[in-house]
Amino acid sequence: MPFRADLHCHSTCSDGSCTPQELIDLAIEKGLSGLSITDHDTVDAYSAISDNRGLKLLTGVEFSTVLNGKSVHILGYGIDVSSQKLLDFCAKHQERRRTRNRGILSLLEKQGMVISEEELFAIAGHTVGRPHIAELLVSKGYVDSHQKAFQKYIGDGKSCYIQGDHFSIEETLDIIHGAGGISVLAHPHLYHGKRFVKTVLEKGIRGLECDYACFPKAQNAPWHSLAEELSLLKTAGSDFHGKKKPGIPLGASCVDEKTFSTLIISL
Ligand code: AMP
Ligand code: ZN
Ligand code: FE
Ligand code: FE
Repeated sequence: MPFRADLHCHSTCSDGSCTPQELIDLAIEKGLSGLSITDHDTVDAYSAISDNRGLKLLTGVEFSTVLNGKSVHILGYGIDVSSQKLLDFCAKHQERRRTRNRGILSLLEKQGMVISEEELFAIAGHTVGRPHIAELLVSKGYVDSHQKAFQKYIGDGKSCYIQGDHFSIEETLDIIHGAGGISVLAHPHLYHGKRFVKTVLEKGIRGLECDYACFPKAQNAPWHSLAEELSLLKTAGSDFHGKKKPGIPLGASCVDEKTFSTLIISL
């Protein structure tokens, strides 16, 4: 079987439905040779794995940043997950999220939708995010779907969303590169056009996630061209969240052995 590695997935340490160990078991079941678990703003997954069962693991994280009020996700690969600066940065993200989530809950409450912080912590891992709030809005009957929760209340710019504090792209790149990692812009497909993506990349990002989730070749092609034009490393990943994002299987987008080795060697 050819070497395939999925470089983007989430565990229960953020907003995925599989534990880190379950992700490893699933990757092996799917015939993958390599994996990177890229939880939002935490590297806790790497201390929760008991046995990688021969699967090649590349350390990873997906940091939330903001540019011109727009959310931008930056992946960090090959990072030293015991770097104190990295761990302190993750802790600051958790604090930022706590304050922001409190703000969102208070806006929801003003519209008659009551969710407590305890309820949120009870269903979340280390990183508590809007998908958890959406899950509670559905389970408590305030909206009838996850998507509606974002569309009506907690999506960017909606009535119960506040962005709160954030970290810049520059600060985030310093942390990733300082921890020996390679920075990659996640899912350019989901942003606001090529010009915006170019502005983000010009800040010193070293790679671009050209193949993403289940997007067809034709939609990945412009990002391959851009990565070639800017001499960036091309990566791929499914952004698997398990049951939390049904329809996207682990291994939906993968890199080959050469790309995987480049990222490992850069450690
Ligand atoms: P957070 O990091 O807590 O701000 O939550 C961001 C996450 O919410 C993203 O990674 C997506 O998984 C999800 N998300 C954001 N906007 C939407 C949307 N409009 N519809 C569905 N999911 C969304
Ligand atoms: Zn996620
Ligand atoms: Fe993302
Ligand atoms: Fe992701």
